[in-house]
Amino acid sequence: MQLETVIGLEIHIQMKTKSKMFCGCSNDGENQPPNTTICPVCLGHPGTLPVANRQAIKYGVIMALALDCKINNRSIWARKNYFYPDLSKGYQISQFEEPLSASGHLTITVKEKKYRIGITRLHLEEDAAKNFHSENQTLVDYNRAGTPLMEIVTEPDFRSPEEAKVFLQELRLLARYLGVSDADMEKGHLRCDANISLRPVGEDKLYPKTEIKNLNSFKSVERALAYEVKRQSDEWQKGTPITFQSTRGWDASAIKTVEQRSKEDSADYRYFPEPDLPPIVFTAEEIKEIRASLPELPWQKKERFIKEYGLALPNAKTLVEDKEVADYFEKVMMEMRAWVEALEETEGTSEEIWAQHKAKLTKLVCGWLLSELYKLINEAGQSILDVKITPENFAEFITIVYKKKVNSSAAQVLLKEMYETGGDPSQILEEKDLSQVGDTDELSQVVEQIIKNNPGQVREYQAGKEPLIKFFIGLAMRQTKGKADPEMLENLFKKKLKS
Ligand SMILES: [Zn+2]
Repeated sequence: MQLETVIGLEIHIQMKTKSKMFCGCSNDGENQPPNTTICPVCLGHPGTLPVANRQAIKYGVIMALALDCKINNRSIWARKNYFYPDLSKGYQISQFEEPLSASGHLTITVKEKKYRIGITRLHLEEDAAKNFHSENQTLVDYNRAGTPLMEIVTEPDFRSPEEAKVFLQELRLLARYLGVSDADMEKGHLRCDANISLRPVGEDKLYPKTEIKNLNSFKSVERALAYEVKRQSDEWQKGTPITFQSTRGWDASAIKTVEQRSKEDSADYRYFPEPDLPPIVFTAEEIKEIRASLPELPWQKKERFIKEYGLALPNAKTLVEDKEVADYFEKVMMEMRAWVEALEETEGTSEEIWAQHKAKLTKLVCGWLLSELYKLINEAGQSILDVKITPENFAEFITIVYKKKVNSSAAQVLLKEMYETGGDPSQILEEKDLSQVGDTDELSQVVEQIIKNNPGQVREYQAGKEPLIKFFIGLAMRQTKGKADPEMLENLFKKKLKS
């Protein structure tokens, strides 16, 4: 039997606000001693009144707009009732009917194919506390209780575990671009529950789903879903497809999902409108204003980089993956352009001059940034924000390479020195005597000397043993202490060996 995989995701993202969702407690509880960023409101003492955090609501709207959701002019809070030690109130304030926003989408690309993933809704709620289980006791840290969350529910539009993983990565990137969350999965800022079922190819009907709870890394999302595809497909092939809805957990060390409980229905939570909070109301004007304030989104930046700089897709993608790197790249390119326009020997409008050099310079900047600078950053265990090389100096470095003032091995030495000291490339070039020997007269002398000293190899070369050219170049490089341009040497040798 041919089966099709159907996956939908529910994602919780912790927002990066200063205070919690409904009280003034610090939202930095994860970095504070347990149970120190708490108050009667987030603990749910009787008689306390919650007040909604404006910034959190705004972050929700920003994210919803970036996901092309429709913002409801009026949305309401709801109580979701259940008992658990990490929920001292006995209920969670969430949204149920009339959520903040609905009906959006996010387009992802997997193996060069585009998929449009529907967003059912994005609503706001508060996080619960955190339980720490040890052998014979459970400890509760209420610092996390009341942390502002946005929950994003997708349509069952994924057809493979990989699509689900890529979607989450895009969502993380988006949250970081918008500045609403660090969206660090390892720290639990972004958590994912995945619903999965299988069905015979050609059918539209949805079969009972299995919910995999609390997936906390991209790898575990992909692996847990792949495991379920296999498990459920085996059941189908045996003639016993899953007939009831259930909840499973992912055991990463055993590499399998484990049945936890049969799933509650929303009726079990006895949702009802939260009586202590007014509705969230937005005018069309206010929404328009927030929409206008959205920054450039990652996919827009990617498209622009491809169009504006002629970047290849993989390079554009890598640059955009970290907003700081993308910003650094653009600052360097601005410097490049200013440099090109100041070149004296060129004629034409600034647009024409730029067009002459743009492709080559962009290629150089990309190459040196994404391979060599990244290598230095990784070796040092740092990020682009720690890099001491200013965009101005990096651009100057590129002009030095472009003008062939150094050969590529000397350029690596130069960049490393700049990385370590943050120094000015021209100055380092002089101090370290790295400049390429570009003077043809000087090189000619070296070449002639080598030809004179190696008559045997010269005869062999002239008799047709062409690879010997490498031998001659090698000798010349040694003599110039590696500062000659190998290409220039090759030309000189070829010319002189012919005569
Ligand atoms: Zn509090």
